[in-house]
Amino acid sequence: MTRGGVCKEVIESHPKILRHDVSDKSINITKTSRANEKHTMPSTNVVYELLECPMCTKLMYPPIHQCPNGHTLCSNCKSKVHNCCPSCHSELGNIRCLALEKVAESLELPCRHGCHDIFPYYSKLKHEQNCRFRPYNCPYAGSKCSVTGDISNLVAHLKNDHNVDMHDGCTFNHRYVKSNPHEVENATWMLTVFNCYGRQFCLHFEAFHLGMAPVYISFLRFIGEDNEAKNFSYSLEVGGYGRKLTWQGVPRSIRDSHQKIRDSQDGLIIPRKLALFFSGGNRKELKLRVIGRIWKEQ
Ligand SMILES: [Zn+2]
Ligand SMILES: [Zn+2]
Ligand SMILES: [Zn+2]
Ligand SMILES: [Zn+2]
Repeated sequence: MTRGGVCKEVIESHPKILRHDVSDKSINITKTSRANEKHTMPSTNVVYELLECPMCTKLMYPPIHQCPNGHTLCSNCKSKVHNCCPSCHSELGNIRCLALEKVAESLELPCRHGCHDIFPYYSKLKHEQNCRFRPYNCPYAGSKCSVTGDISNLVAHLKNDHNVDMHDGCTFNHRYVKSNPHEVENATWMLTVFNCYGRQFCLHFEAFHLGMAPVYISFLRFIGEDNEAKNFSYSLEVGGYGRKLTWQGVPRSIRDSHQKIRDSQDGLIIPRKLALFFSGGNRKELKLRVIGRIWKEQ
């Protein structure tokens, strides 16, 4: 209990002194960094290094822990070290490093995606997860592709590494043919990229199950942000033998995962029976012609 008392004293008395100390320093850093960036960069980096967990090297966020000898540790690592300080092997206990947490609070760091915004330490991470300049994930569905990049990198990657068909123009007439019955039934997804209005759109086509019912779905994704995607509309049409299904929709940003869009059924859904009817023949092969158009809403 007395130990608890001591800890409490440490926790509550120090930050008050440190708060002034720290904010003064941070003002100094900001002032001088504007005056002479080269000169002060190291001191900001030193603080930055202090905020790296010595065990996992990730930046630490509250609660930041320390051992009785002052070695710091992130809360994630703390849960893994069985109460033993990885630096000096003394008993870790439950001591928070409020001083360092306050130092972190005083820091302002630039977004690492290059949007030129500067953020308080604790909101930087959150911003970076939503920054519109953060890289996009590869929109190629169905594979576990981990490539990320900006739009032009991704378009080149789709073309070169996934051999995706590229088409210029805002109207299309696309044929999906699967003559192997196994492929007709299984999730054979396909992707085509359209260049139009100087932007790129991905047309997805794949088989999946809506509950128990086998269906095909086709939808358009926009390679860009959601707010831009909303400026466009598209239509899809599929049919044969005097019957026709049409769909009009708004392309979805590739920020939304392919699976999320598919599961929300935001596209042209064709029951497999109907698709095979449209395909004619022996109903064991898929021969669909999807006609589409992309336009800009005024
Ligand atoms: Zn750690
Ligand atoms: Zn230690
Ligand atoms: Zn940013
Ligand atoms: Zn990829």
